[in-house]
Amino acid sequence: MQTTFAPEKLADPQIAASEKILRTCVHCGFCTATCPTYLLMGDELDSPRGRIYLIKDMLENEKPATEQVVKHVDRCLSCLSCMTTCPSGVHYQHLVDHARAYIEETYKRPLGDRLLRALLANILPNRNLFRLALIGAWFAKPLLPLLARIPFMGSRLAAMVALAPSTAPLRSIETEVFDTPKSGKRVVVMEGCAQPVLQPSINAATRRLLARAGVETIAAEGEGCCGALVHHMGREHDALAFARRNIDAWTAEIEGRGLDAILITASGCGTSVKDYGYMLRNDPAYAQKAARVSSITKDISEYVTALDLGAVAQRKQLVIAYHSACSMQHGQQIRDEPKLMLRDAGFTVRDVPEGHICCGSAGTYNILQPEIASRLRARKVLNIERVKPDIIATGNIGCITQIAGGTQIPIVHTIELVDWARGGPMPPALEARGFTR
Ligand code: SF4
Ligand code: SF4
Repeated sequence: MQTTFAPEKLADPQIAASEKILRTCVHCGFCTATCPTYLLMGDELDSPRGRIYLIKDMLENEKPATEQVVKHVDRCLSCLSCMTTCPSGVHYQHLVDHARAYIEETYKRPLGDRLLRALLANILPNRNLFRLALIGAWFAKPLLPLLARIPFMGSRLAAMVALAPSTAPLRSIETEVFDTPKSGKRVVVMEGCAQPVLQPSINAATRRLLARAGVETIAAEGEGCCGALVHHMGREHDALAFARRNIDAWTAEIEGRGLDAILITASGCGTSVKDYGYMLRNDPAYAQKAARVSSITKDISEYVTALDLGAVAQRKQLVIAYHSACSMQHGQQIRDEPKLMLRDAGFTVRDVPEGHICCGSAGTYNILQPEIASRLRARKVLNIERVKPDIIATGNIGCITQIAGGTQIPIVHTIELVDWARGGPMPPALEARGFTR
């Protein structure tokens, strides 16, 4: 794609990076075939190519974001399916991240929108506030029909309350202490923000499984939210602050007793942490440390498939539909490892038809764009139910919450199933459904 940015504009490293991305697009339109919003809406402006044109026009002409640009960029899930499809290697992720930050700087959203976004940006990354909010949402569940009638933001408030689990999140799981492992391997298991509140059993299963394989797991002091949720809302400054805080916490461990890896059990967070090197490339104090952190960050499935876990004593006769989160398959290009882990643990694994299409979770998307998100969930659930699974497995807490709201089939994190098959307890989500096998 030809661009005509003024030379002085290209002195800005952000603009220079986006201009480089824009020039790689050859307008072929292959990406439109796999874009969920284009599939649903059929509007070129809701396709990757259409959005690229809108972003180009906005950045090239230094225009403040218009209502039209905001509408179509907001509708983008950042699922990155277009990046997997694109034959020219267009780095849409970095382009749309830049566009979202530019929108945040140049566009004044309506009051209700600003309030809701501020609420989400402040509550979700803070575990204590998030727990309180979930308890509040649990009490508000009977009021859903009334909430939906509140002018301007009713459907979004209702979507937020509907997503909250049907039990109050009062339970937390004590961190188990394991004997000192013998392999000498030492890893951080990132806790993050929302996952330990919604499903603390995921990282508990991870630590148990790794301890059995002789890997020492630690939680780095000072670590917190990865920043992805606020980054997707265009709050770049906040996202970078979260990234720096994590980099400080992990660098202290790397330079202290040393780390083999930073392991992440939520693929949405993994995509973000693996991008820290790019996000902080222009910060002289952090560029090197950020690149080092990104280089040793792994999804749990990448790490576990490289370990010798031994044979499984008794195979469970269960069919698993594996839902690959967009952040797993498109963001991190991890496709086989989670399925391999499940098969090695004795499960029968089935792929989901249309597996490349997003379930509609996408960070805060299911709250900010509830109509599109629920259409995508319905489509996803239909495809999952076609393979007649006993259980759905996935590697991202956002997808677990989103899909659980649309089906009676239990959905659990992949690592919980692997831990269960290899001697751990039954995942709580299965216990809650009265699972007996
Ligand atoms: S990130 Fe997903 S929703 Fe956004 S343009 Fe690409 S394929 Fe479409
Ligand atoms: S597939 Fe790639 S090169 Fe083709 S229009 Fe889409 S982004 Fe541009």
